[in-house]
Amino acid sequence: MNVYLVEAPPFPEMLCGAAAAVCTNSKNTERALKHAMESGHTSVLEHAVFTFKVEGLSRAALAQLTRHRLASFDVQSQRYVRIHGIDLVMPENIRKSEFYEEAGSLLEDVMNLYQRMVDAGIPCEDARYVTPQADPTTLYMTMNARELLHFFSLRTCNRAQWEIRQLADEMLTLCKQSAQIIFENAGPGCVCGHCQEKKPCGHPRRKGEWDG
Ligand SMILES: Cc1cc2nc3c(=O)[nH]c(=O)nc-3n(C[C@H](O)[C@H](O)[C@H](O)COP(=O)(O)OP(=O)(O)OC[C@H]3O[C@@H](n4cnc5c(N)ncnc54)[C@H](O)[C@@H]3O)c2cc1C
Repeated sequence: MNVYLVEAPPFPEMLCGAAAAVCTNSKNTERALKHAMESGHTSVLEHAVFTFKVEGLSRAALAQLTRHRLASFDVQSQRYVRIHGIDLVMPENIRKSEFYEEAGSLLEDVMNLYQRMVDAGIPCEDARYVTPQADPTTLYMTMNARELLHFFSLRTCNRAQWEIRQLADEMLTLCKQSAQIIFENAGPGCVCGHCQEKKPCGHPRRKGEWDG
């Protein structure tokens, strides 16, 4: 999987800090931002939006990602773009198991069937019904900083599924490089507060794990 931060405000913290400073008539934007974040006045974070490009995310993970409603998505079409069936996403648990070869050969058969159907004139939008969840896709996604903090709290948690957690980890690394103050305490409950999981994983993640 490749994750790129395509665009972010040049100074996200000055932008959000300026919004916070308006509220309290403050001259110090950094202090106003920190004060707003500490007091839960996180709407100031909505002014900073971050756009990512993601390549090689499976359709299985895409279904989870697009559950996040306060985000904008554009995803490569399976109606208009022919699937090539290369670089299918294979979980480590299958890769290391006795089912690996069988799974690989099944996926190959399915992708061959897809190609033959498209060659025979069946539209891509119909032929795709036989394609696997392992199929990798490319997408653009935009979230504001407030939604990103929420997304990271859910998806960097060890309880999140491995592929979306890998995506969230990479996004958090990029966000920290762009806005250290905003994302300083981002992460799952064990990092930024207390774990709210009913069944904690027992392996709390460490603060700073995303600092790259
Ligand atoms: C570990 C894990 C397991 C999961 N398992 C399942 C599962 O088995 N089945 C399943 O269907 N989903 C599952 N999900 C998805 C989950 O239920 C959420 O749909 C997903 O995490 C998006 O979270 P969200 O709604 O908080 O975030 P967003 O959609 O990004 O929304 C952000 C916040 O905005 C507010 N908000 C947004 N829309 C509304 C609204 N309409 N009304 C009120 N407030 C709103 C809420 O405060 C919300 O937390 C799972 C998620 C995780 C992290």
